[in-house]
Amino acid sequence: MKAHEVEFVAGATNLDHAPKEPLPEIAFLGPSNVGKSSLINCLLSRQGIARVSKTPGRTQQLNYFRINGRLFFVDLPGYGFAKVPPRVQQQLRKMIEGYLEGSTRLALLLLLLDSRRPPLPRDVELRAWLEESDVPHAVVLTKVDKLKRGELKKSRLRTEELLGLSGHASVLPFSSKSGVGKRELWGVIGEALSGAAGGDDAGLVETS
Ligand code: GDP
Repeated sequence: MKAHEVEFVAGATNLDHAPKEPLPEIAFLGPSNVGKSSLINCLLSRQGIARVSKTPGRTQQLNYFRINGRLFFVDLPGYGFAKVPPRVQQQLRKMIEGYLEGSTRLALLLLLLDSRRPPLPRDVELRAWLEESDVPHAVVLTKVDKLKRGELKKSRLRTEELLGLSGHASVLPFSSKSGVGKRELWGVIGEALSGAAGGDDAGLVETS
């Protein structure tokens, strides 16, 4: 995919303030510090575009980026940051749930987890909730450049087992440092978009 045109369109606190354009959405969710901004920047080949969302005041929003005028990337707030007070955690949870329950154009949610750590109960619960709620999703293991081949294999198996995923295709290894997994992730996004468009819009994402 070549992201010719990337625009930060809106930081919304709920769906009422989300852009109204009827474009398919790819959403990104994960614990704070998992490497979400880096992954988005890597996918879009833009240094710093997702950092926009990190400027004060924008951190706790649903951040919409329009890509090539054809789709939105929705950067959801990171969860589980220990320094965030429980009241704010609760607000973030509500915002994320509100988005996941209410968005009608979500083609795929990418749940990001750090490949170096076993998923926590909160991650397991979240994934179970996604499954129950029929949210189309895939799991991405980030920062795999930090692992040796054997460690990565273990990490994948552990994640699949703990999250109750079947088959290796369900977990995508990714590194924004090395670019490992970038092509595969665009492939998964492209499939989700063509599925969401009723299968007749496979050209939505052009691979390069
Ligand atoms: P976010 O809070 O989820 O948006 O995470 P960031 O993208 O800001 O990354 C958090 C930290 O992890 C930063 O110090 C990044 O440099 C580092 N990081 C992110 N992705 C990678 C990766 O693929 N490999 C390595 N080694 N470090 C990464």
